[in-house]
Amino acid sequence: MECGKTFSRPTTLKEHQYIHSGEKKPFSCDQCGSRFSISSSLKTHQSPIHVTSVIR
Ligand SMILES: [Zn+2]
Ligand SMILES: [Zn+2]
Repeated sequence: MECGKTFSRPTTLKEHQYIHSGEKKPFSCDQCGSRFSISSSLKTHQSPIHVTSVIR
C-alpha cells in the first residue's frame, strides 16, 4: 500500500484505504442513508433497525 501498512483482513484494508481517498464516512445505509466511518458501525446500525436487510 502507499503507506506501507498491511492488514490481515480485506475489510480492514478497504476501510484504511478510505483514509487516502479522503472519504471519512464511506459506508452508507442503503435503507435510510445514514453514513458511517466503519463497516462494523453500519452493521450495528442495520441489525436492530433494518431487520429485513440481509447481511452476509
Ligand atoms: Zn495506507
Ligand atoms: Zn439505516
